[in-house]
Amino acid sequence: MSDLDQFRQTVHAWLEENCPPAMRTPITREEQVWAGKNKVFPNQDAKLWFERMRDKGWTAPEWPAELGGGGLDERQAKVLRDEMKRLGCRTPLFDLGIWMLGPAVLEYGTEEQRQQHIPSIVRGDVRWCQGYSEPGAGSDLASLQTRAEDHGDHFLVNGAKIWTTNADKADWIFCLVRTDPDAKKQEGISFLLIDMDNPGVSTTPIELISGESEFCQTFFDNVKVPKANLIGELNKGWSVAKSLLKHERKLMAEIGGDTPGPSFSPVQAGIEYVGLDSSGKLRDHGLREQLVSHEMAYRAIGLTHFRSFEERMNGVADNNVPLIMKYVGTEESKRKEEVLMAILGQRALGWYDDEFNADELLTNRGWLFSKALSIAGGTSEVQLNIIAKRVLGLPT
Ligand SMILES: Cc1cc2nc3c(=O)[nH]c(=O)nc-3n(C[C@H](O)[C@H](O)[C@H](O)COP(=O)(O)OP(=O)(O)OC[C@H]3O[C@@H](n4cnc5c(N)ncnc54)[C@H](O)[C@@H]3O)c2cc1C
Repeated sequence: MSDLDQFRQTVHAWLEENCPPAMRTPITREEQVWAGKNKVFPNQDAKLWFERMRDKGWTAPEWPAELGGGGLDERQAKVLRDEMKRLGCRTPLFDLGIWMLGPAVLEYGTEEQRQQHIPSIVRGDVRWCQGYSEPGAGSDLASLQTRAEDHGDHFLVNGAKIWTTNADKADWIFCLVRTDPDAKKQEGISFLLIDMDNPGVSTTPIELISGESEFCQTFFDNVKVPKANLIGELNKGWSVAKSLLKHERKLMAEIGGDTPGPSFSPVQAGIEYVGLDSSGKLRDHGLREQLVSHEMAYRAIGLTHFRSFEERMNGVADNNVPLIMKYVGTEESKRKEEVLMAILGQRALGWYDDEFNADELLTNRGWLFSKALSIAGGTSEVQLNIIAKRVLGLPT
């Protein structure tokens, strides 16, 4: 038996023993455990599961063990992900620190910055939010105007960010700020970490059409930020920003992950809501075509992820893959939600009504939320522009 097979057996046995059965069911938005000073656990099982995974460093399996991470190599981490998926284990901790900031600090941070931030992210002690977008600087991110002036031992930050997801619940924010207003657009930007408790930081929720408000505007009014909070070189934050976006896009490309949604797949929903004819085919021919087309794309995307992983392991990584997969994956996610809506028909039109079961209500919400996927982390139109220019070498 190979070392990796041995590792798979050990992981499987550990998960069987340590993941409570209640943590092996599809997760809802309310049940997600988010990092932060004031973590909220929906129940004791969620707390236990989080603590066990945290103590093994498996909230961030690939990060160095000496900084609290799992110390696994990429293949081992994939085995862990695969086994968790196979057993239906929930993601124990949600945080932008794990998905985006941590990898950037590991790549660009100093030893002191790694020591300060990485272990606390693994332990889920701090909740992070992302301060990139500004009014007038979304797709054209390099137009950002929030400025950080050099005041000797600290920067003085002034400006406003928008669409900052959960800024009102976050402890810290990672930000792009303009440190040289006279330089060319991308060359005067720096990457700064700011404690949300700093005087002068405030947030205002943005109410959405759904009545919820995940988004905030974040304001900086003469906020003093120590120089030690600068990640990477002064005025070279664009490189850190791009590296972080690569992780964000990779995350978003992985469709079908541990995101809240109905417990059935489109095929199961088709069987349940539309039914099969005597030859075992879905009764509605049009829906059948949509379903087959989605299933084929879904599997092709899964296989492409697998191929790209193997290529990376064999040293032929193509850095453009996350970019392309973000576009393809999020567009296919939207198509999946369209198919589900078509299958459920009127049964997907409920909002809070007792007449509808939980899966039906989640289908409706999942469909609405899917519209955001091809906007967040770079819109599909802009992704296509970058693919055209960078990957295909087409003229701009
Ligand atoms: C769910 C969600 C969560 C988010 N969370 C965060 C967060 O936590 N922190 C954060 O900083 N930001 C966040 N954002 C903001 C997100 O990054 C921006 O919405 C995104 O970059 C698009 O910018 P914009 O909204 O300003 O749109 P715009 O840039 O104004 O674009 C409007 C439209 O014009 C199109 N367009 C723009 N330029 C071009 C072009 N050159 N060619 C073709 N079409 C073009 C776009 O594709 C889009 O359809 C989030 C967004 C969503 C949807």
